Amino acid sequence: MDLGIKGKKAIVCASSKGLGLGCALSLAEAGVDLIINSRDAGNLDNALNLITSKYQVRVETVVADITTKTGQEAVLEKAENNLDILVTNAGGPPPGLWSEWSRSDFILALDANMLTPIALMKEVLPGMIDKGWGRIVNITSQSVKAPIPALGLSNSARAGLTGYVAGTSRQVAEFGVTINNLQPGVHDTDRIKSLDLHTAKQAGITSMEAKQNRRNAIPVKRYGTIQEFGSACAFLCSQQAGFIIGQNILLDGGAVNSTM
Ligand code: NAP
Repeated sequence: MDLGIKGKKAIVCASSKGLGLGCALSLAEAGVDLIINSRDAGNLDNALNLITSKYQVRVETVVADITTKTGQEAVLEKAENNLDILVTNAGGPPPGLWSEWSRSDFILALDANMLTPIALMKEVLPGMIDKGWGRIVNITSQSVKAPIPALGLSNSARAGLTGYVAGTSRQVAEFGVTINNLQPGVHDTDRIKSLDLHTAKQAGITSMEAKQNRRNAIPVKRYGTIQEFGSACAFLCSQQAGFIIGQNILLDGGAVNSTM
């Protein structure tokens, strides 16, 4: 399907690996020029080489921590006030127990997974509104729909972002700008490998056993791929998705057991 976004310009945050990289690859396949970002220059160069070896698009890199103000400014500066698509993303908070988390743990999680996407949206929305076209996709988590006990920091921060998007998306929709959230379930990325390791340590089993248990609990009996995730993101950024506003789309292989 032609997504109708060839030649548009996108920022994809935290995109040298994992779900962010999946989104960057799918947008590049649709002909979108990219600004990609992560903290590690080597990983980011690998991502740049991968994308440009496959697709004829312009890719710029920004090595920065997207959760800092200077990181956000550096990424936005590359867009030169001419941005069509924003995909927000950052690393997820560490797992733990409700009784252990301090105020500073919450502040870190809120900064990364709630206030950073909100700050980026606030910066890019005026330009998109002026143009009469824009697409914003936030990578959140299935934990917004079904809490994951060990990820209470994530459950909390992402729920806050979801509330913000629910209201804001409806205020900017009339200007041709859509904001939606993608809620990943379990996808095969480094983040999930480290969470499997944590589960294995807690349960006294191997991480392979932890992975097997987790796979068995998903109706499709496998982890999702970054390609599947990226394709959904690119569709939300397409011309065809202009009537999808303020939605939370679960990509979880059926793991969240609910009727709607
Ligand atoms: P990942 O495989 O660990 O990849 C994270 C990517 O983000 C890397 O490119 C990393 O590069 C970059 N990054 C991390 N922190 C950053 C920061 N502060 N500034 C800039 N770049 C940063 O993680 P993932 O699995 O793709 O997960 C992405 C997000 O989705 C996380 O918030 C995660 O909690 C959430 N999520 C994932 C799943 C899943 O199934 N994978 C499920 C639910 C929610 P550098 O380390 O070089 O910065």
